[in-house]
Amino acid sequence: MFAQNLHTHTAWDDGTASPLDMARAAVAAGLTSLGFSVHSPLSWGNDWAIPADRLAAYRAEIAQVRAQFRGTLAVYDGLEWDSRSPLAPDGFDYVIGSVHFLAPGGEASSVDLSSAVTKALLEDRFGGDERAMARAYFAQYAALADDPRVDIVGHFDLICKYSETAGLFDSRAPWLLDLASETMGPLVSAGKIFEVNTGAMAKGYRTEPYPSVPLLRRLHALGGRVTISSDAHRPEHLTYAFPETRAQLRAIGFRELWRFDGRGFVPGPL
Ligand SMILES: [Zn+2]
Ligand SMILES: [Zn+2]
Repeated sequence: MFAQNLHTHTAWDDGTASPLDMARAAVAAGLTSLGFSVHSPLSWGNDWAIPADRLAAYRAEIAQVRAQFRGTLAVYDGLEWDSRSPLAPDGFDYVIGSVHFLAPGGEASSVDLSSAVTKALLEDRFGGDERAMARAYFAQYAALADDPRVDIVGHFDLICKYSETAGLFDSRAPWLLDLASETMGPLVSAGKIFEVNTGAMAKGYRTEPYPSVPLLRRLHALGGRVTISSDAHRPEHLTYAFPETRAQLRAIGFRELWRFDGRGFVPGPL
C-alpha cells in the first residue's frame, strides 16, 4: 500500500474528526505519514473552509499531534489552497492547489457543492454552454502552473464530479479530454505533481478517481508525476481504494509515486 495521504480534512474545516482521531486512524490503516490539508479561508460566508481567525489555533493543534506521533507517524501541516482564497499559500509544509469556484461576472459559485448548484451555474451564468464553463474552469488550473508555491494539483477534473450521476460534463467527451490535456501540459512542465484523488469514489459520486482514467492516460503520455490521496473527510476514508488505484496506475504505465518526505517530493516505486 502507498503509505501516505497528503489530502485530508478535519472537523476544523469540513471533515468529521479531530486531527488526533485522524492520526490514530492513519496508524491503524497502515499509513506511515499523514498530511493535513485544511481548506484555505475564503472571503465570503461558507461552512466548509476554516475561518481565518481559527487558523493559528488549528495549526497549533496539528503541531501538537505531530509531536505526539513522532517516531510512529510523520504528520505534516499542509494546505488545500483554493485559487480564490485571500490567504497567501506560504509557510505550510506543502500546498495542494485546487479550484472549487467559478466567478463569471464576479460572484463566486461552487462547482462541487451539489449537482443542482453546478447545473444552475451552467444554465444561469454560462447559458448552458458546457464548453465555455469548462474553459473558464481549466483556465484557473492553468494559472497554477505559474505559481511556484503550489506543489500538487488537486482534483484536476472536479468539474466532472456529476458526470456519472447527473450527466453533467461527460468525462469521456473528446472535447473535454482535449481541453483538459491542453491544461495539463504546462502544469507538467512546471513540475507540478497530480494527485490521483479517490474522494468522489468514497462518497459514491464516481467509479474512478480524479483525474479520470482517460485523463490519467494522457497525463502519463505527457510524462506527468502522480501521488495518491483520498481527500478524506472522515477517518474510514483515509486509504479508500488505494490498492485498486495503484493497480490502475500500473496498468496505464506509471511506475513511480511521488511522496513528501518532510523537505520535498521524492519518487518511489509504484
Ligand atoms: Zn477540494
Ligand atoms: Zn479536499
